[in-house]
Amino acid sequence: MKITKIEAFQVDWSEPGQKGGRSAFVRIETEDGLFGMGEASPMEGGLASLVIIARHLAPLMIGKDALDHTVILETLFHKCIKLGPDGALSGALAALDIALWDLKGKLLAQPVHKLLGGAWRTSLTCYASIGGNAWRTVDEVVKIVEKRVAREKPAAVKIRWDGDRTKVDVDIAGDIAKAKAVRKALGDGFMLGFDANNGYSIGGAMRVGRALEDLGFTWFEEPVQHYHVSAMGEVAQRLDITVSAGEQTYTLQGVKDLINAGVRMVQPDITKMGGITGMMQCAALAHAHGVELVPHQTQPSIGHLANLHLLSTIMHLAKPVELADNWERVGKVFKNPSEPVEGLFTLPTTPGLGMEYDAAELRRRTIPLAV
Ligand code: CA
Repeated sequence: MKITKIEAFQVDWSEPGQKGGRSAFVRIETEDGLFGMGEASPMEGGLASLVIIARHLAPLMIGKDALDHTVILETLFHKCIKLGPDGALSGALAALDIALWDLKGKLLAQPVHKLLGGAWRTSLTCYASIGGNAWRTVDEVVKIVEKRVAREKPAAVKIRWDGDRTKVDVDIAGDIAKAKAVRKALGDGFMLGFDANNGYSIGGAMRVGRALEDLGFTWFEEPVQHYHVSAMGEVAQRLDITVSAGEQTYTLQGVKDLINAGVRMVQPDITKMGGITGMMQCAALAHAHGVELVPHQTQPSIGHLANLHLLSTIMHLAKPVELADNWERVGKVFKNPSEPVEGLFTLPTTPGLGMEYDAAELRRRTIPLAV
């Protein structure tokens, strides 16, 4: 089935008077008019990945058989490797991979999870991933956490810091006070994660990590800079709490390095590295090492659907699915599954990713790429 057309474009989620961010999508069409859609990481609007697709990858995919998709993408990865295998290039390839899986599912009239080996579960619990807490008071943190828990009925909550990335150890006592207040508000049995967003030194991370252990938090995410792999590993090995990392890791080899350093919960992102194919490789790698794979995933439409199919196939999945801030923004275009119902996401069973969306509204929000 020959690929005949590839479009790379942004989608604007703004409303009048309210900025809403942009997604970076790709659409791949074949000679018989079937198509698949994928999504790249939206950092800085995903523009760098979209340009790489339009200028360097798409022209080489036209005329190729869509079912040869891993051969095509590995060839493109190695052709463009000097652009840097981390970041924008791997996001571009992730988007293409997701689109090709969507397309393959439609060609074979099967949902993606069937092509991956089948689902262990058809509904998945979510965790509320709540950002921006470095900038809130203790009371404000509790307020937003209680609001999200009441609205989303999550199985767990992760409080994210999102602090100034040029500083570390800014307010350790204040951070611990916020963690304490959230534990008190939600009660002893509630599953909690703490995401430092790389905000500590090794010593600062040890202090916060010990406090989180006392408070019964389940995981401690990215305590130190992600590029200090050995420091991440040292913190992971010295603390009892599970230390997680990997959302800023873009290759299978990078995930291997994290595991070798001592990280025992890895969090690669389907829109940043390898797409569905890359995440299946990560799943095998994690399984081989007895390490938990808990993907990072903050995009509520295509990335989320791809992530759901992938997660449904992981046997030892022990954490809920990430439900990030402002998830509701895509509801005007995407009809499924966007928001959880009673705390659960339902796995689509129609061919491909099974996305249902309003094509006219998607077109209205599309910003074509000018390259
Ligand atoms: Ca994170």
